[in-house]
Amino acid sequence: MSHEQKNRFVYADNAATTSVHPVVLAKMMPLFGEVLGNPSSLHAKGREAKKYIDDARSKIAGILGCEAKEIYFTGCGSESDNWAIKGAVKAYLDRHDKDTCHVITTKIEHHAVLHTCKALEKQGIKVTYLPVDENAMVNPDDVVKAIQEDTALVAIMYANNEVGTVEPIKEITKRVKEVNEKILVFTDAVQAVGHLPINVKDLGVDMLAFSGHKFRAPKGVGGLYVKSGVVVKTLIEGGGQEKGKRGGTENMPGIVGMAEALAIANEEMQDDNARLAMLRDDLIRRLLEIPHSRLTGHPTKRLPGTASFTFEYIEGESLLLMLDMMGICASTGSACSSKSLEPSHVLLAMGLPHEIAHGSLRLTLSHETTQADVDYIVESVKKVIERLREISPLGRQ
Ligand SMILES: *Cc1c(COP(=O)(O)O)cnc(C)c1O
Repeated sequence: MSHEQKNRFVYADNAATTSVHPVVLAKMMPLFGEVLGNPSSLHAKGREAKKYIDDARSKIAGILGCEAKEIYFTGCGSESDNWAIKGAVKAYLDRHDKDTCHVITTKIEHHAVLHTCKALEKQGIKVTYLPVDENAMVNPDDVVKAIQEDTALVAIMYANNEVGTVEPIKEITKRVKEVNEKILVFTDAVQAVGHLPINVKDLGVDMLAFSGHKFRAPKGVGGLYVKSGVVVKTLIEGGGQEKGKRGGTENMPGIVGMAEALAIANEEMQDDNARLAMLRDDLIRRLLEIPHSRLTGHPTKRLPGTASFTFEYIEGESLLLMLDMMGICASTGSACSSKSLEPSHVLLAMGLPHEIAHGSLRLTLSHETTQADVDYIVESVKKVIERLREISPLGRQ
């Protein structure tokens, strides 16, 4: 390894989290001191803090194409996912005076959705986990076929965090509503908001989750769009915050930061995405030159910054460690599952055999990624894979 390489640093794990935009940070700084009020307090400082939250809510609503009163702030994307699913199921059970109902989701959801559904199953709720095709695409026909008499909710992600596939949420929603307009449709859009143009009214969904730290706001703040008239039971009981729907003193600086980050992302989206897609496609084309490699996720309907692969005869963990030593931050599967040796549930659902799913690599680019970064990644991955295949008994096959 040359000195040059040792000093290089490339962050290619933006689907796990992003850096906070400097403008966002600057906007937030005074909110930790000068604007010290609790938004629930009736005095001047409280009113001032409340005004900041109201403005942020209007700004986000304007960008997502809904009314301010339809946006609720939460602590993270995971909370939004939990709330939407548990809240919708509970509301259904209450309304129908029943002990069970049916939920439709997919096998490729984030664990915040999957584990929530598993927990509901333990409480007697019926859950269908839909399969996906080899590109991780959900078939709207499968969704319709899965609908039962007591289906309360359809929960399908907008874009997959591991392989970047963008799902046909608008069509799925339309098809579900044609069968039964009372079935609620929720989408975990945590990978999409701030990265793709999203208009909730155009999509037709009832609920949509987002999270600030995936689009250059700080960690620890998220949101849920809930369409007017849709009833979701409260998840976090407490004071009367968020119209009594979500207790807990608001993360006012985080909320303001999230609104600012979304506004910036929205403004720069078109240019950013064109540039990102070019870098991504260059990365994909060149890494697929490696023998026994394949692209995972849909070839075209994918997030602009996500490139994901499998390399046969390679352990994803070894690949990550060696790239890390070369200053490259990447991921194998999702950050949450990368601590375990189980292959990614997403890759398995796409039909990849265990041994191939083990050799996965996810590179997620950002506005900061340069062509030189891509060149360095390509050169390093090629070198590392060659090395690993040389020393691995698997590689000699
Ligand atoms: C990151 C992520 C989440 C969880 O969001 P947090 O804010 O980290 O809790 C949920 N769903 C998807 C698709 C994600 O990528």
